[in-house]
Amino acid sequence: MPAHIPTIKRYEAIIDDFLAEVDLQPDVIVPAPRLNKLHDELQPLNRTLQKILQTSVAYNENIYKREQELAKSPAFIPLALMFFSVTSLVVFVLMQAMRDRQRLLAVEHAQAEATHMQENLRALIRAMPALVVVFDSLNNVVSFANPQAQTLIDTAPPTSREWRRFLKAAQDSLSADQAEGVLVSFSFQRANGSILALRGRRQRVMWEGRQQCMLALADTTQIRDAELQIMQTAKLATLGEMASAIAHEINQPLTVIRMAAANAQRLLANGNTASLEAKLERINAQIERARRITDQVRRYGRTPTLTSEPFSPRRAIDLAISFVAEQYGMSGIRLVIDLDLPLELQVAGEQTLFEQVIVNLLINARDAFEENRSKGAHPIVQVQARVEGEQVSVRIQDQAGGIRQDILDVVFEPFTTTKSESQGTGLGLSLSRKIIRSMKGEITASNSAGGALFAITLPQYHRDGEMSEAAQ
Ligand code: ADP
Repeated sequence: MPAHIPTIKRYEAIIDDFLAEVDLQPDVIVPAPRLNKLHDELQPLNRTLQKILQTSVAYNENIYKREQELAKSPAFIPLALMFFSVTSLVVFVLMQAMRDRQRLLAVEHAQAEATHMQENLRALIRAMPALVVVFDSLNNVVSFANPQAQTLIDTAPPTSREWRRFLKAAQDSLSADQAEGVLVSFSFQRANGSILALRGRRQRVMWEGRQQCMLALADTTQIRDAELQIMQTAKLATLGEMASAIAHEINQPLTVIRMAAANAQRLLANGNTASLEAKLERINAQIERARRITDQVRRYGRTPTLTSEPFSPRRAIDLAISFVAEQYGMSGIRLVIDLDLPLELQVAGEQTLFEQVIVNLLINARDAFEENRSKGAHPIVQVQARVEGEQVSVRIQDQAGGIRQDILDVVFEPFTTTKSESQGTGLGLSLSRKIIRSMKGEITASNSAGGALFAITLPQYHRDGEMSEAAQ
């Protein structure tokens, strides 16, 4: 076809020339010779056009034939489809592989970052001054302990008896209803006998791909020691204050002994040896009474250690009462004692510290009477103790006007005092609360019946109880 293009163009030019002539003289009739000439000139165009027509028909026939051939070969289309599918599949697989590789790189990067973070975290935990211990709560096996913890608890591998004892002490400090992430505060006696005071939190963590428990603890032994020192100072101050009462109390058996001895001498001189034995028994009983008083003073003056041991609260309250009884007598205050507690019932803690709490409360009540004496307060203090289910309840109620309203909410905070600098430190009640809480109990203060009411509750200790090991 392209071969005919120059010929066609030539005829196009002839026709254009003729039409230009006709356009120039529209009114003149074209002469016959001119038309004949044009006819002659266009004569070959006819043949050319016929040739073009024939060529085009032949071309169409050719295409038709090829289409027929294609239709006759049915394998071609599936093959072509297969080819396209395979090609697309290969392209798809290649693209997927590239994407997977990118994803893999991203995962590897994230993994490397996580490993770095884990290493940093471990380094941080190792460098921390706090004790960090991770353990499995199901079998109580320690899976990690930072150097600080290892140094303080035990340098042996974390499966040793020491670690089990440590975990037990930590577990025992949590009561059953405490949720996760709560404060733990407990004492632990090291293999060398020294007692650590520890305070911190227990938290569930994912550690080495497993759910475990983490203890993050601060060593508060120094703070505890300072507190014990304050308690000791407070106790010695109480002892000092009571010196005259104690001397008076010891004086009584001494007087009785002196009289009994004089009588015995007289009986001996008269040769009346039959009645001598009764006098000697009296002397013995009075010596025993004096010994009890000096024992009490010695026990009370002993430095506390904060070790937890089971003791009879009934006996401790009796001892605390007998300690202040003489003073109360001298101040003209009547003690109404109503202790409905079996002697064998026990609580866990340090007995002398618990006695100190009761003595503190009784002395505060006495001080309140001294202050309100002129206001006609009834000098009566009631000490009541009961068993209430699993709890032991102790209530100390006076009628000395009550706690000043402006300090009632903060009365257990350190340094809250209404007394003069020489008389009060404002530490007695805050230390009392600390002691009661260390025994897993609670102490509250309120005003009722014209005076202050201090109520203590403590959990009972059972022989097969959890605290036996902690108290070792
Ligand atoms: P301190 O006796 O050294 O002041 P405490 O912590 O023992 O410290 O007591 C704090 C304050 O609580 C006392 O100063 C007093 O105002 C008040 N308080 C304690 N017990 C009583 C009580 N039985 N009656 C009235 N107020 C009391």
